[in-house]
Amino acid sequence: MPTHQQRLRHTTLPGKHFAVLDPATGEAFGEAPDQHPDDLDAIVGRAHEAWLGWRADPDARTAALRTAADAVEAAGPDLAPLLTREQGKPLAESCQEVARTAARLRYFADLTPRTELIADGRPVHSEIRWRPLGPVAGIVPWNFPLQLASAKFAPALAAGNTMVLKPSPSTPLATRLLADVVSTALPEGVLTIVTGREPLGARLASHPGIRHVTFTGSIPTGRTVARDAAASLARVTLELGGNDAAVLLEDVDVQQITDRLFWAAFRNCGQVCMAVKRVYAPARIHAHVVEALAQRARATVVGPGLDPGTQMGPVNNAAQLARVEDHTAQALADGGRAASGGRRLNRPGYFFAPTILADVPAHSPVVTQEQFGPVLPVLPYRNLDEAIEAVNGTGFGLGGSVWGSDLDRAAEVAGRLDCGTAWINHHAELSLAQPFAGAKESGVGVAGGPWGLYGNLRPFVVHRPQEPYQ
Ligand code: NAD
Repeated sequence: MPTHQQRLRHTTLPGKHFAVLDPATGEAFGEAPDQHPDDLDAIVGRAHEAWLGWRADPDARTAALRTAADAVEAAGPDLAPLLTREQGKPLAESCQEVARTAARLRYFADLTPRTELIADGRPVHSEIRWRPLGPVAGIVPWNFPLQLASAKFAPALAAGNTMVLKPSPSTPLATRLLADVVSTALPEGVLTIVTGREPLGARLASHPGIRHVTFTGSIPTGRTVARDAAASLARVTLELGGNDAAVLLEDVDVQQITDRLFWAAFRNCGQVCMAVKRVYAPARIHAHVVEALAQRARATVVGPGLDPGTQMGPVNNAAQLARVEDHTAQALADGGRAASGGRRLNRPGYFFAPTILADVPAHSPVVTQEQFGPVLPVLPYRNLDEAIEAVNGTGFGLGGSVWGSDLDRAAEVAGRLDCGTAWINHHAELSLAQPFAGAKESGVGVAGGPWGLYGNLRPFVVHRPQEPYQ
């Protein structure tokens, strides 16, 4: 029996391809079809055809998505190493990503919209039903290729839409394999993956046959996508960048939190939209926090994701590595100090030492922008109100966290964060059932849980008298 990966190789499209690099070596190890934007007309046309059947039978959808979840789990031994190879993350994290992808499919398979009746004293009742939108475009980045792909297609398909999905050109292979695996449970045309370089994504976002564009990526690209989708007035859901802060309170037990706080910043090599990207520590304990995090950073095993001992892999691509290097160099030039790391590792691939920065001024780009890599500034504060003002004083509003021993006090401070999700003594722990929505420039629309399902539906209202001619 051929493995899924072997089957994928045999089904590779003819035509032009682009190289896919292994970030642990910087060398090409595979290729993906470089599809032309003009191909989208036929692809979106097939997605529309498929939608006419797919939207009609909710029970068939539930059964198909459950079968797809089982297929994803079974393909884990193929999917996880391929994901690590092109993305860079440790294999254990790729396995978690595959498991989360299957879990999300299962969650949405069993979620159905509720028909509601509004009886407001009039003789006519309003019955609210929910209808799917049509073909949906999903566009995702390279940091969690499978998890984010499923965050797009699981709710869209469960709602009765079809999807054309475009992964990042940095990580097309595991997503192609995932789509291949999921499609074994679906009618043809329900889920189609397209791979290629820009302007493929721009053309997909502006395609007149697309009725919803659900995008995850950076804020600047999100703006462009929103402009492009305006051409056909398609609905837009944007999950964008973050610059999450962790606020440590006076009573925090530094030893207790160091490991968790460190991994909240450095998991997936810091390439998490909701990673902790800046820490605010009371001035009295600032030096202690810096040294505890730096010690943890120095002890971290950095290496290729496929090596069993690796705790942190490489940065995913050369452009992102250059961004991390620039932010770090600027922070040091601004008077900052690297308590650990501060440089690229002297080996092939895109490795950067986990870096804890102290004495960085508040205006430095590593504080004001999204570094999206293994670099963390720790800033001292003397007055909590001023710290909260600094935390909220950016255009970002994805998440934030408060760390301390008095949970009531921490919860009160968490309530003052201007963001979509706040945690106490944790960061970036998400439930499949919760709404996920960034505040300010970090997002438009709501994903996750039932809100994610309704984000892929439109209300259809029938007004009905209680008596025939009332
Ligand atoms: P990006 O915005 O550069 O690219 C995202 C996707 O958009 C890729 O598939 C890319 O090929 C495509 N794209 C590029 N230009 C396009 C265009 N003009 N029109 C349509 N599509 C286009 O982001 P990235 O560098 O791949 O990912 C990192 C960013 O993603 C970070 O800012 C991170 O915070 C964000 N992110 C956000 C979330 C969230 O849920 N809020 C989750 C993960 C990542």
